[in-house]
Amino acid sequence: MSAKTPFLERVEKALADDHLRGAVRYTAENLYLKRKAVMADLDVLAEKGEALGNFEELRARAQEIKRHTLAHLDAYLKQAAEQIRKNGGVVHWAKDAREANQIVLEICKKRGAKKLIKSKSMVTEEIHLNQALEAEGMEIVESDLGEYIIQLARETPAHIVIPAIHKTRRQIADLFGAVAGRELATDTKTLAGFARATLRQKFMTADVGVTGANFVVAETGTLCLVTNEGNGRLTSSVPPCQISVVGMEKLVPRLEDLAVMLNLLPRSATGQKITTYFNMITGPRRPGEPDGPEELHVIFLDNGRSNILATQYQEVLSCIRCGACLNSCPVYRQLGGHAYGSIYPGPIGTVLTPLLQGFDQWDELLQACSLCGACAENCPLGIQLHKHIIRLRGEAVAQGREHPLMRTALKAVHFAWTRPGVYKFVARSAHLGVKPFTRRREDGSEYLDNLPSIAAGWTNSRTMPAPARKPFHQRWAELQREEGAK
Ligand code: SF4
Repeated sequence: MSAKTPFLERVEKALADDHLRGAVRYTAENLYLKRKAVMADLDVLAEKGEALGNFEELRARAQEIKRHTLAHLDAYLKQAAEQIRKNGGVVHWAKDAREANQIVLEICKKRGAKKLIKSKSMVTEEIHLNQALEAEGMEIVESDLGEYIIQLARETPAHIVIPAIHKTRRQIADLFGAVAGRELATDTKTLAGFARATLRQKFMTADVGVTGANFVVAETGTLCLVTNEGNGRLTSSVPPCQISVVGMEKLVPRLEDLAVMLNLLPRSATGQKITTYFNMITGPRRPGEPDGPEELHVIFLDNGRSNILATQYQEVLSCIRCGACLNSCPVYRQLGGHAYGSIYPGPIGTVLTPLLQGFDQWDELLQACSLCGACAENCPLGIQLHKHIIRLRGEAVAQGREHPLMRTALKAVHFAWTRPGVYKFVARSAHLGVKPFTRRREDGSEYLDNLPSIAAGWTNSRTMPAPARKPFHQRWAELQREEGAK
């Protein structure tokens, strides 16, 4: 669904889709539990001296690496660019999406390239590279299985690691069947076999391979791709030209920093100790080497990132796009990715999208958070996403962007909660105020149903407990009296 559809409409559509909610919740919870188990294993290994550190130690080291890198980003970008050039690569700088797409187009035009193959890359989704190339009559094919499914469905990824998290086998078989011109069975072997055979042809005939990079090592100019399907390796070694589009924050200073990052990324993303493939690309093909591109271009993209540098939001740039915050977020698990309307959904998207693109169109995203803090707890970089959301909400309110009804409601809450007498009266009588909406279960517990107006969101798709008939302060006072009487 397009971001042009109002946020609440997108949310309502997602909440009404039981299949989507079930599929997203199942996979996100699964990934969350796998991550938890593999991190517990890591702690045990660390205790035996068989790992670089336990989760907390590695997280602290990763934070320090990124904090240092971001504080000296200009110097590390310069060093990385020099090394990439020394290795035989070409470096480009793009201040925004338009410039980045233009650079890719010019490289393709110079080479007479018409066919491109792409490995999974969120940054190329961010700049809408596929649409820019297709508008110029070029063919660009996604080679990551999930991204290929999404491309055929003409959708955007619903998760930053598992793009087709919301699709069923039947839907995938239908999408592949339309390409094959015949009905396909829904078993994994048939579906993966079809994608493999189709994409293999695309790899062999592509003029250009497009990749992102999970990390760029400044001291060596090395691009690192962390993948599970081998498509990143084929994209970067079969076509005669490789273009890597990289967010300018993706740097680490030294090769040894990768050891820390690689202990955290696969564990946080998919609950794996290590992914199936890890590629390190240091320059184009050298004389005598059997494969690799003859030309390697690296495009460092700003697109709003430098506006975040040196602000209170700077740590957001240390994100390694593992998706752990999505999997642990109770809001993402209910909505899936498309309701956010942004390429970056979940807690990281809620913070990053308004920071990169401004509040217009994105300020409502800030409401998609219960401030539970599960995202920060699970983030391998310890990014305090919920605190950034509170800060951004504060900025939005300072700009007069909150709903007028919400402003009035919060003023009323402020009035009551800052006067003990009024607070006690409200707490004692709240259950009477919502009596028409209170339902009773067989076990005697009560919940609210069908609240009206702006309160409707609290009960439309979930169960909300009814206010206690006897509020806490009253029960506490009674308990103290009873204790005193003993
Ligand atoms: S914010 Fe943290 S948890 Fe979320 S994607 Fe980035 S690194 Fe992963």
